[in-house]
Amino acid sequence: MLGAPSFPQLHRGKGGRVQASISTENSQPETGLALTAHEDRSLPRESRCGFSTPRVTLKVMRTVYIGMGGNMASWAGAPEATLAAAAQRLESLGRMTRRSSLYSTAPVGFAAQPRFVNAVVELETELEPRGLLEGLQGIELEFGRDRSAGIANGPRTLDLDILLFGELKISESGLEIPHPRLAERAFVLVPLNEIAAGVVVPGAAKTVGQLLTRLIEATKAISDAVVQVRSKVSADKEIGGWPSYREK
Ligand code: AMP
Repeated sequence: MLGAPSFPQLHRGKGGRVQASISTENSQPETGLALTAHEDRSLPRESRCGFSTPRVTLKVMRTVYIGMGGNMASWAGAPEATLAAAAQRLESLGRMTRRSSLYSTAPVGFAAQPRFVNAVVELETELEPRGLLEGLQGIELEFGRDRSAGIANGPRTLDLDILLFGELKISESGLEIPHPRLAERAFVLVPLNEIAAGVVVPGAAKTVGQLLTRLIEATKAISDAVVQVRSKVSADKEIGGWPSYREK
């Protein structure tokens, strides 16, 4: 439940943009509301100065978690480099607020292929679920994702999945949220747990951390299926928190 919103805080941002924000007493990060008031530049300057005539749009800002993975080289380089470059592209869909480490993971389903590199990022976005899915699929294509091979769980340059979308639960053609295989995949739960252990998974009535504990107990161990990738390059070579990847 959200608490009573406080009075909007108004301030002038870059480029003369008037911004307003509302904070709520008990607001959850994944249900945060953002109110943005844009100065209407079609009006004469006299009537748009100050805060008397802003055009106010109420937008819902949601915290979403995106699973990333790949095991084939793309134009950006090896999978680590693809994930680093794709993470930068994700900034076009929202504001990246957290990212997990990179993990080297054993392939699931179709075993005769290289290990994957996986990670999870947290984004704050104003996009609707369909819009976000379309944006992710566009980025997959930019990195050479080719669905024509048709092998389920087969090799790929880049896979982007919506794991969680705020508190939403969606089940419709071509879109299921939370991701339907979230709770059974260590390569998703381990990086997700690193950045969102306490987040409750809608429909499961359990936190990410509880789902991971349950999976570990059910499978007895995660062994080498999911191993954190250690950076071999110095911190000053980092791209936004992930090491830039140097080809050997
Ligand atoms: P994949 O081959 O794993 O990339 O699966 C992509 C397909 O899964 C697409 O056709 C999507 O429409 C569908 N899909 C359903 N739910 C999701 C989700 N939460 N995130 C990403 N893709 C989804």
